[in-house]
Amino acid sequence: MNENIFAQTDRYISDLLAPEDDALRQTIQSIDDETLPQMSVSASQGKFLQVMAITVNATRVLELGTFAGYSTIWLARALPENGIVVTLEAEEKHAAIARKNLANAGVLSKVDMRLGKALDILPKMITDGEKPFDLIFIDADKPPYAEYFNYALQLSRPGTLIICDNVVREGKILDPESTDERVQGVRRFNQLLADNKNVTATILSTVGVKEFDGMAIAVVGRPD
Ligand code: SAM
Repeated sequence: MNENIFAQTDRYISDLLAPEDDALRQTIQSIDDETLPQMSVSASQGKFLQVMAITVNATRVLELGTFAGYSTIWLARALPENGIVVTLEAEEKHAAIARKNLANAGVLSKVDMRLGKALDILPKMITDGEKPFDLIFIDADKPPYAEYFNYALQLSRPGTLIICDNVVREGKILDPESTDERVQGVRRFNQLLADNKNVTATILSTVGVKEFDGMAIAVVGRPD
């Protein structure tokens, strides 16, 4: 596999269609400044999330896994003035970095960041009667992806788009014997997606500036 051509092509695409402004560039820089690993979506993937949010006329977005707020910024910028991204983050340190980056990007008023483990927050959102979301982006820890998806369905309405990142993992998902709990978590999720008769779903392989991976895209509801 010629990774160089994939990275070069991805840069060509993002230069053309997903150029980063200062706030996005500074968000990426803030991750280096804190010597954290770069685990945000790429610029072209951020733009993809925007396209999806606009396609479904999203005003309510749920994100699992804020990190430094990079994807949150792309999503918040796709929303109208009254739109909101509810984003869940387990690490206080990440949430603090994200808060600064979201403020710097001018989107803090469109973001409701909730600190804690998604598996604790999501059931409470459901029992508290949280209104359904238009788009749900799952990008937190991988072992509980299937559980996250089940909660996401309970926070959806027909037409809600659910997007889950990192579901190919450089092809490691092909190995049913993998001892990597992230691979096993994603394999359980992918199977759940295939078995669920109430969603129409596929997985898009992704290559580019990041490693070979994939995004699952599911719309709640199935045409007859
Ligand atoms: N979506 C971000 C972006 O593209 O800019 C990247 C998210 S990063 C891949 C995953 C994030 O999920 C990390 O910040 C991590 O701390 C957070 N996380 C991990 N486990 C979590 C959990 N159980 N609940 C909520 N967040 C979690």
